[in-house]
Amino acid sequence: MTDPELDTPVLDDHLHLDPDAGQGLDAVRDFRRLGGTHLLVVNKPSWHLGVEAEAGADFRAVFERTLDAVADASDLLPGRAWPVLGVHPGLISRLVDERGLAPTAARDLMQAGLDVAAEYVRDGRALALKSGRPHYDVSDEVWDASNDVLRHALDLGADLGCAVQLHTEASEDLTEIASWAETRGLPAHRVVKHYAGPTLAGPTPSVMCRKEWLREAAERGEPFLMETDFVDDPERPGAVMGPKTVPRRVRTLQSEGYDDAIRLAHVETPARVYGIDTEATLTG
Ligand SMILES: [Zn+2]
Repeated sequence: MTDPELDTPVLDDHLHLDPDAGQGLDAVRDFRRLGGTHLLVVNKPSWHLGVEAEAGADFRAVFERTLDAVADASDLLPGRAWPVLGVHPGLISRLVDERGLAPTAARDLMQAGLDVAAEYVRDGRALALKSGRPHYDVSDEVWDASNDVLRHALDLGADLGCAVQLHTEASEDLTEIASWAETRGLPAHRVVKHYAGPTLAGPTPSVMCRKEWLREAAERGEPFLMETDFVDDPERPGAVMGPKTVPRRVRTLQSEGYDDAIRLAHVETPARVYGIDTEATLTG
């Protein structure tokens, strides 16, 4: 099957590309072949790339690899790709449990990494920031330090006027985080919960592409995005949805008459959250 003419922008709001160890650009070709047009590419967790950061600048190597992959992906797409850069919240456990850092020291290092990510946004080389907090049980000290990191990302997002993607615990109510954002001057809708279900109070949900979740989000009619969280890791081939999933789900939603929801998830919400125009950037 080639170019199924979905006749709409098709954006995967959160996936990873690893041209060295994973499918890399072949994943982008698969996405495009099924009708995908735009990608938000999030850097892989630093330690997955063999980077054991000891200072904020050490994250630069991770970010640069993402920028390279995004440039190559953009060349292949009828639309384009954008980088989303940040520090994975799971890093705190690695720093505290395996490297013996105090939670406060881990916090400082992760905030310094976010400061470097913010430079790329400021220079126009990245679209948005990525942060969050662990989705698993942690000590109070680690939880507090993680929330400090998350709030630092919101500070940076407010300063830069950019969106912030978050990795958090599963929840349908993140209004507390939304209020942290609003207090800093970052509108709540510019905070995106990645790996979200169909219902969420507070930030904008980036809904994982389970069919029933997407139908629920479509029926709900509130702003939402669609993602796979494709990790592009050959050692975890079945761990996530593949790169073809978003265009496939768009096709299904079209056949079920959800055209308004498709426009909402692939044109209107990306414009509202990230300030991107998925129609004007579509060149054929
Ligand atoms: Zn991810």
